[in-house]
Amino acid sequence: MWHGPGTTSASAAMDSSPTKPFRFDTLTAPPNSTWVPPKWITGLTNGVHVPTHNGLGAPWDPKIPSINGVDLTKPDPRLKTPDIQIKDERSLSPRRIVFKNVTILDSTGAPPYSGDVLVDGQRIAKVGGKLTSEELATARIIEGRGRTLMSGLIDAHTHFSWTDSASLEGLADMPVEEHTLFTAKSALTFLDCGYTMCLGAASAKDRLDVVIKNAIHNGDIPGPRFLANGKEMAPTTGALIPGITKFVETPKDIKRAIDELADLGVDQCKLSMSGDEITEELRSEDTTFPDELVAAGVEAAHARGMRVCSHARSDESILQCLQYGVDIIYHASFISESTMDALEAQKDRVYVAPALNFPLSTLTDAAAFGYPVSRAEAIGYAREMEIAVAGLKEMHKRGIKILPGGDYGFAWTPHGTYRDLEHFVNLLEMTPMEAILSATALGGELMLHPHELGKVVPGAYADLILVNGDPLQDITLLSHKENLDVILMNGRVHKGECELSDRAAQA
Ligand SMILES: [Zn+2]
Repeated sequence: MWHGPGTTSASAAMDSSPTKPFRFDTLTAPPNSTWVPPKWITGLTNGVHVPTHNGLGAPWDPKIPSINGVDLTKPDPRLKTPDIQIKDERSLSPRRIVFKNVTILDSTGAPPYSGDVLVDGQRIAKVGGKLTSEELATARIIEGRGRTLMSGLIDAHTHFSWTDSASLEGLADMPVEEHTLFTAKSALTFLDCGYTMCLGAASAKDRLDVVIKNAIHNGDIPGPRFLANGKEMAPTTGALIPGITKFVETPKDIKRAIDELADLGVDQCKLSMSGDEITEELRSEDTTFPDELVAAGVEAAHARGMRVCSHARSDESILQCLQYGVDIIYHASFISESTMDALEAQKDRVYVAPALNFPLSTLTDAAAFGYPVSRAEAIGYAREMEIAVAGLKEMHKRGIKILPGGDYGFAWTPHGTYRDLEHFVNLLEMTPMEAILSATALGGELMLHPHELGKVVPGAYADLILVNGDPLQDITLLSHKENLDVILMNGRVHKGECELSDRAAQA
């Protein structure tokens, strides 16, 4: 019986401390399950089987991993740095904004401190201390009154084009014109909720992400800085939602599909490499990609400078990601001990975004949409969440990079309900500071602009949120947009407050 988030006893229910034995309903394990409880769950060291060859028969050493001579502990040097500039002419005109007397949470890891922050054009010019009267005289002043100023957040698993549908196939039904407008509206919703960086994790139609990215980056519509994806790819037998899948059966197919996406201007592509309990057909522990297809997909994408992200819930699919060079792993639920060791060896290269909110909300909030708790439990999501949360805690202990990003855009997880940081604190036992660093500084890193995004430091883009309260005391403040008094995007006020004044403060 699941007693997870959505109730006040969330963290207690998920507590896997030694006094509370690990529990899950073995009846919901698929008949072909090979999952063995790992040592972070049992407390015992198993005889771990470490594969010595990958699925293509090439030697595999998880401690010195490489593929075709490419060192897998570092990003492939062929990857391109994506353009994240917003060419907004209005923000190029000289214009200064001052946040006066704010608590600065700068995402360098330092504790917050008080001071003023000066924004000049699109970027942050000065941080901390008191600004001079000349500096104040030419600026628009926002009185901080001690409120917290911090970087905007990242969602690392974004689907602007998921339509808040109550069914999986419903994501494919919207006609293209309405779908384009819906996608633009989701981008705006993310920004309204304080998300200034989004990494696309698949687009329901090939060009939706790209078109919206171009519109945002041209300054035509409001939205977060965005890296676009295309339709997710899978073999016919492995498609989770056929209506939004680009089918690939052979290495030749996948190269052609990826070249098409690269030509469209997509920044990263997505391989759907495992099943998912929600399909009620392909179980999360089913692996859907043959090894040669993963290897060919990663090679084709990296050759075009694009990163690869993967839906990978099964242990085997996570291992494939690590053996063939997938850059961003989504879910990673059923990770085994030997795969965990392999992931740790690649922790400088690989990012994990578990997207816990969808299965969690399916267990707690989907009943109103015809998906009762008993069904969510019966398909195995409660079991998967317990296993995944234990694995993610272990990843966090080992310094593996875990980012927020929650697969939002279904009826019971609609756009605007973003709350991954709560899950990180309540379930993964991150401190609020760790959760915020993963949503800001690590976000800048994931966007491949670590010096310009995700931090409140001179020279960084002024993508900022002013929070009414202290998110280090209460992380849930960041789950509700009404707590964000000011949102600055690219140095422009996206959301302000009435005391904003063009006149200099005379006080
Ligand atoms: Zn997703």
